[in-house]
Amino acid sequence: AQAEAKARAHQPAITQDGHQIRVLANIGSLADAQLAMVNGAEGVGLLRTEFLYLDRANAPSEEEQLAVYQAIAQVLHQRPLIIRTLDVGGDKPLSYINTGIAETNPFLGVRGIRMCLENPQLFKTQLRAILRASVNSNIKVMWPMITNLTEARAAREIFTQAQTELRQGGIAFDERMEVGTMIETPAAVAIADQLAKEVDFFSIGTNDLSQYVMVGDRTNPKVATLADAMHPAVLRMIQQTVQAAHAAKIWVGLCGEVAAETLIAPILLGLGVDELSVNPQAIAPLKQAISQLTIDEAQALAKVALKQDSALSVRELVYPIG
Ligand code: PEP
Ligand code: MG
Repeated sequence: AQAEAKARAHQPAITQDGHQIRVLANIGSLADAQLAMVNGAEGVGLLRTEFLYLDRANAPSEEEQLAVYQAIAQVLHQRPLIIRTLDVGGDKPLSYINTGIAETNPFLGVRGIRMCLENPQLFKTQLRAILRASVNSNIKVMWPMITNLTEARAAREIFTQAQTELRQGGIAFDERMEVGTMIETPAAVAIADQLAKEVDFFSIGTNDLSQYVMVGDRTNPKVATLADAMHPAVLRMIQQTVQAAHAAKIWVGLCGEVAAETLIAPILLGLGVDELSVNPQAIAPLKQAISQLTIDEAQALAKVALKQDSALSVRELVYPIG
């Protein structure tokens, strides 16, 4: 039975009524990439690149990053690998970046794409490494913490500069690399229709989206439970994001921790998410859960969930009583 479960983990996740849902892995290292493959991941929906930058005296060089991205891409063979650009600052400061200010609200501070746009050289070095690693592999790039079109356009501009530099230097890269953005701030949801015109795909980050929508710090145990992705306020934002993406004919994934809850997955699929990305251990059970439902049922469930009055009542729809 164990061998059977293992074999099943490597099959695609197809609902009872024949819809395939892509199930990918969230990873933060080369070892994670191997773990993801063993567990049946169809690729990597989120490579958190913070591990390359934290706990050191200076930024990783282009060559150093290139080697790591190439090694991960090799483990994945031709499966998709979404590399998210650096998401530090705020509560994860870098010793070698002087922000010039002590922030009292780091989660509302110079974090993610904001920090990278303030340090364009640091950002461009990462983009060059990502581009160079894309030769003969299936790499996509993704921005964290976008809140407005100016940031999305500025990031694209530096990406274009990196491409131009490489072309001029005769260095190969995938000319058709897709560019995506995380949707993890309420502002990004509100302008999702506009953002969808700037990028090739969305990935909803419910960890941050929940804390920013519910105004509950995800690291503060007194309020973290408030920041539940199952609150109808968050579910409605997921729905709005999916509708904006599909209206613009781009796909939308979801890479927050909540996607790993097998009983919750039907709600997310019912909201129309095209792809789920979860920690490697969650992949097999998630595929199993998907293979047992129909999209019709999932949509009916999502519709009911959107009308509930609390996260608890949403959870009571799917969790066994007691
Ligand atoms: C998220 O915010 O949901 C997410 C996936 O990114 P991270 O947890 O790295 O902030
Ligand atoms: Mg996030």
